[in-house]
Amino acid sequence: MVQYTGIGTPKPNMNEDTEMFWHKLRETKKLHFQQCCKCGTVLHPPRPVCYNCHSFELEWVEAPTKGKIYSYVVYHRSVHPGFQTPYEVVLVELENGARIVGNMLDAAPDEIAIGMPVEVVVDDQVYEDVSLIKFKKI
Ligand SMILES: [Zn+2]
Repeated sequence: MVQYTGIGTPKPNMNEDTEMFWHKLRETKKLHFQQCCKCGTVLHPPRPVCYNCHSFELEWVEAPTKGKIYSYVVYHRSVHPGFQTPYEVVLVELENGARIVGNMLDAAPDEIAIGMPVEVVVDDQVYEDVSLIKFKKI
């Protein structure tokens, strides 16, 4: 699980394509993805156009809360002095097939395994104005 040194960490990068993703996460405490209104493709990360059929008609839908670890990496040298090492970054495949990156809330790096079932947790404790996506063991 990721732990912080207390000097602060960089916030997620926001732009006009991703702003609504972070806003919905903060306001609803739930993960939402874009879905194409024409072909049904679930899109992540957010973008202005469907990569499958090139439609601009996209809507926001609530994402599944459960998935499995698709891949992960353990950092023994931090990319920022705000993170205590070792820490992990996991790539989780949710039940709808979309994949999203986050940190574990309750598992040490040596407990993590590919295929491990996890649940989405919205973490409001790190920043006053941005929520983060983390995962916990099921
Ligand atoms: Zn589409």
